[in-house]
Amino acid sequence: MYWDQKIETMERGELEKLQLARLGRTLERAKQSEHYGRLFGQMKLATEKIRTLADVQELPLTTKDDLRELWPYGFLACSRDELVRMHSSSGTTGRATVIFHTASDIAAWTDLLARSMYMTGMRRSDVFQNMMTYGLFTGGLGFHYGAEKIGALVIPAGAGNSKRQIQLIRDFETTAVHIIPSYALHLSTVFEETGCDPRRDTKLRLAFLGAEPHSEKMRRKIEAFYGFKAFNSYGLSEMNGPGMAFECPEQNGMHIWEDNFIVEIIDPETLKPLPDGEEGELVTTTLLREGMPILRYRTKDLTRIIPGPCPCGRTHRRIERIKGRTDDMMILKGVNIFPIQIEKKLMEVPGVGTNFLIILDREGYNDQMTVKVEVRKEYFGGDLSQLETLRRRIVEELKSDILISPKVDLVEPDSLPKSEGKAKRVIDNRKD
Ligand code: AMP
Ligand code: ZN
Repeated sequence: MYWDQKIETMERGELEKLQLARLGRTLERAKQSEHYGRLFGQMKLATEKIRTLADVQELPLTTKDDLRELWPYGFLACSRDELVRMHSSSGTTGRATVIFHTASDIAAWTDLLARSMYMTGMRRSDVFQNMMTYGLFTGGLGFHYGAEKIGALVIPAGAGNSKRQIQLIRDFETTAVHIIPSYALHLSTVFEETGCDPRRDTKLRLAFLGAEPHSEKMRRKIEAFYGFKAFNSYGLSEMNGPGMAFECPEQNGMHIWEDNFIVEIIDPETLKPLPDGEEGELVTTTLLREGMPILRYRTKDLTRIIPGPCPCGRTHRRIERIKGRTDDMMILKGVNIFPIQIEKKLMEVPGVGTNFLIILDREGYNDQMTVKVEVRKEYFGGDLSQLETLRRRIVEELKSDILISPKVDLVEPDSLPKSEGKAKRVIDNRKD
C-alpha cells in the first residue's frame, strides 16, 4: 500500500532530521544563484546559523515578483548545461514564471507523482488517461512520467476534445483519469448527450482532480456522476507542479511530501508563522531541487495544516483543500468573499448545472455582483415559474453565506464560456 514505506511513515523526529540535513544542502546550492547569492550577502546571512527547522523563519521569503525580476535565469544554481527541462506557470497576469530542472530534479518529481498515485490505489494494471494540457503546463508531463513509473498504461490524451476523450475511455477501458474539476463537470454533460453512462459503460475507478480550487460538494457531485473515487491533487509550478500535496484513501486533507518540501503557514498580513490548525498562506521551501532551489515561496494559497495523525499511517502532515488565493478574494461592500463559497452553495441546489461565472460591476459608488448560473435544460421548456422559484432559492442560499444579495441570472447549459485549462470564475469590471 506504500510506494516508499520508509519515507512515507518515517517517525516525525527522523523526518525533521532529514529535512534539516536537506535544507543545509539546499542553502549551499541556493547561494550559487544570482538572487540568493546577492540577498544572503546583503543580509549577511551565514547559512551555518540555520541549526534547527524553526530557524527557517530567518530566511528571506520569495515571491513571484522576485522570480520575475531576475527572469529567466537569475535563480539558477547550476550551469545551463545541467538543465534538461523547462516548465512555466499558467499565470494569466504578468509574465509567466519559468522553472528549470536538472535530470535529478525530474527524477525526484516523477517519484513524487508515482508515490502519490500509488497511494490512492493506482497500479501497473491501470489504464491512465491524462486529460491535461501537455507542454509548458506541469500537469501533463508531470503525471505522465509518474504514471509510467508505476507501470500503468498511459494515454496522453491532452486537454479538450470531449467526444474523443469519451471514445478513448471506452475503447481502451480507461480506469484512471487526471482531469481539471471544472472540465470533469463539463465532460459529464457530453457523456449525457451521447447517452453514455460512465457507471454502466466504462471501467473508470480513479480520478485525480487538480489545478484549481473546488469544494467537497463539487468532488462528491463528480464522483456520483462517474462512479469513481476522486482524489485532490495540489501543486504549483514553482514547487515542480503536481505531486507536492495529494490526498490519501482517507480523502481528508492532502499529505504534503515533507521529505521534499518544508511547509509553513503564515499570516499574509504580518508574515508571522501560524500554529498548526490555523488558516493562513502556505509558504514552501524546496529540499531536493538542484537546478533552481526556492526558499520560503509565498504561494498566495490559503489553507491550514490539519492537526493530528492520519489514520492511513503516513506521518507527513496534511493541508486542507485550498480555500482560495489571497489574490482571488473579492471585497464587496466591505465583505470578503471567495469564489469557492459561491461554488459550495450552488452545488447544494438541485437543478444547478455545471458552470457558473461571477461578474463584478460598479454603479456609481455601489458594487454589484451578478452570478450567472447554468441550470439544467428541463427548466427552460414550458412553465417558467419553476425557473423563477429556482432563481429565488439561489439568491437566498448565496445571501445566507456571503451576506449580500447578488443578482442571479439563470442561463442554459453550455452557454457560459468554458476553458480547457483552469476555469475563470470571476470577471471584475470595477475600475479603481
Ligand atoms: P501553476 O503554477 O500554474 O500550476 O498554478 C498553481 C496554482 O493553482 C496554485 O498556486 C493554486 O492556486 C492552484 N491549484 C493547483 N492545484 C490546486 C488544487 N488541488 N486545489 C486548489 N487550487 C489548486
Ligand atoms: Zn493519510
